[in-house]
Amino acid sequence: MTINTYSEVWNLDVFFPGGSDSDELHNFIVQTEESIKGFEAKVTNWTPLNTEEDSHYLQELLSYLENSAKKLTQAGAFIGCLLAQNTKDKKAYSLDSKITSLGAVFQTALGSLNHHFTTIDDTVWERLVATESLKEFSFVLTESREKAKEKLSKEEEALISTLEVDGYHSWGQLYDLIVSKIKVPFSENGVEQQLSVGQASNKFSNPDREIRAAVFKSWELVWGNQADILAKTLNHLAGFRLSVYQKRGWEDVLKEPLSINRMEKVTLETMWAVISEHKQKLVDYLNRKAKLLGLEKLSWFDLEAPYGKTETKVPYQEGANFIERNFALFGEKLADFTKNAFEEQWIEAEDRPGKAPGGFCTYLPENEQSRIFMTYSGTPSNVSTLAHELGHAFHSYAMRDVPFLNCNYAMNVAETASTFAEMIVADAAVKNTKDEEEKLVLLDDKIQRTVALLMNIHARFLFETSFYEERKLGTVAADRISELMLAAQKEAYCDSLDEYHPLFWASKLHFFITDVPFYNFPYTFGYLFSLGIYAQALEEGKGYEEKYMALLRDTASMKVEDLAQKHLQVDLTQKDFWEKAVGTCLADIDEFLELTEKK
Ligand SMILES: [Zn+2]
Repeated sequence: MTINTYSEVWNLDVFFPGGSDSDELHNFIVQTEESIKGFEAKVTNWTPLNTEEDSHYLQELLSYLENSAKKLTQAGAFIGCLLAQNTKDKKAYSLDSKITSLGAVFQTALGSLNHHFTTIDDTVWERLVATESLKEFSFVLTESREKAKEKLSKEEEALISTLEVDGYHSWGQLYDLIVSKIKVPFSENGVEQQLSVGQASNKFSNPDREIRAAVFKSWELVWGNQADILAKTLNHLAGFRLSVYQKRGWEDVLKEPLSINRMEKVTLETMWAVISEHKQKLVDYLNRKAKLLGLEKLSWFDLEAPYGKTETKVPYQEGANFIERNFALFGEKLADFTKNAFEEQWIEAEDRPGKAPGGFCTYLPENEQSRIFMTYSGTPSNVSTLAHELGHAFHSYAMRDVPFLNCNYAMNVAETASTFAEMIVADAAVKNTKDEEEKLVLLDDKIQRTVALLMNIHARFLFETSFYEERKLGTVAADRISELMLAAQKEAYCDSLDEYHPLFWASKLHFFITDVPFYNFPYTFGYLFSLGIYAQALEEGKGYEEKYMALLRDTASMKVEDLAQKHLQVDLTQKDFWEKAVGTCLADIDEFLELTEKK
């Protein structure tokens, strides 16, 4: 057996040699701009004939569209990699803003194209998207047309887009600005420190309860001081959104987020219903955790407290081999793909200064390759992250022959392959650990994630739902917003905590994101959807891979209910699938409860 030594530094030169100084890159950006201008002109010059004849022009238009979108993605992904590997790359920043403005031109042209679709009669449209050249795009084209039809006139929507800059997105940016100035006072070992919001929130996973409690006290105080300004920010942001919905005649605030995620409301309701029915087991876990920490009940600031300590360090090569071995137990394609990704230096994992925090996976469509970014320091959670990002890369690999227009999947299915890959590795880690304490640490880590997705995210969803209802009637005062949050948390955590975080609406960035509304339930959906598939995979064994990849290929060209029906033969509007998915999480809790019974 040969022992490979994988590089911990990625290879970007295969795309454009020379980083942000690359002539090839500069030429490519020029080509991208030309391509977008070509697409824009094609759209402007189109007056639909409103007959089947339109299919020829439309087909041509779509190839311009695909070409522009691919180039934009390629350039954006590459520059994103440059910025991540060196946060001081000034040239990369200016290239990045160039790409952002090209993206805006592209989006505007796309909006006009979708508007053209609405001028075509329904019967003509049906025949048009059934023609040989267009039928594979039938779903995405019809979806774009339906969305455009539900909006106001072209002029009114253009006006809204203009007003959004200062009247909507600006509120989100103001939030970021306020938060960036917030300092959380905290004294450790007699030294008074001023922590940033990010530094302070990291302390909630500190093993020392006194530290967590002290930070939380300061944390609530700090957010309380900003509550009136942040309440105003949230009210205006939500008010703008609601005014637009009202003008468009959209009554349900969930209409837009559900349509972005290509799912039915009944699916969402069924998912939450099943989760709620099984909350008791999660409460049992929280109570056990409290007991293990010597407490009556947990408080909000105990939820991320680690179980015990693990000193285990896994060297990069060992982590890589562990992932490869366990992926191979699932399927050959995933294993071969992964080996290739390591060998061809698709991964930037080195622990060195100057890199951006966090991890991501990005796809470069012109080369049909992905790049993974992270900082690997040898913790068990680094191994999970690596597996997670490889899962994303495998999703893109499975879709490599799918036309680019059919590759734009939504947030709720975006995490399917990544969660799936992470599960394979996390389960294997728990199983392979002989040491009971270490097993508990790993299990606890998995369960904490379940609690976050089934309880914390649920609280966010319940809060937003009730907040938006009240906001429809007028401005909601800061104290009232906190009351709504407290009620949502009590419901989501089944009254099992000692202290809650009523100002969570202020401290959580997600409520102020303007890109998409309700930035919460797609997380829970994605997690359980993936676990449901994982449960099926375990039942069916090794031959499952083909089926799995076929599902991944269709993730961006179907509604989720149809996707699940076609590939998993399950009905997402019924409880069975969700029961099974939640069941896999509960099994972890059973094991945890059993192992800690006598402690
Ligand atoms: Zn992910």
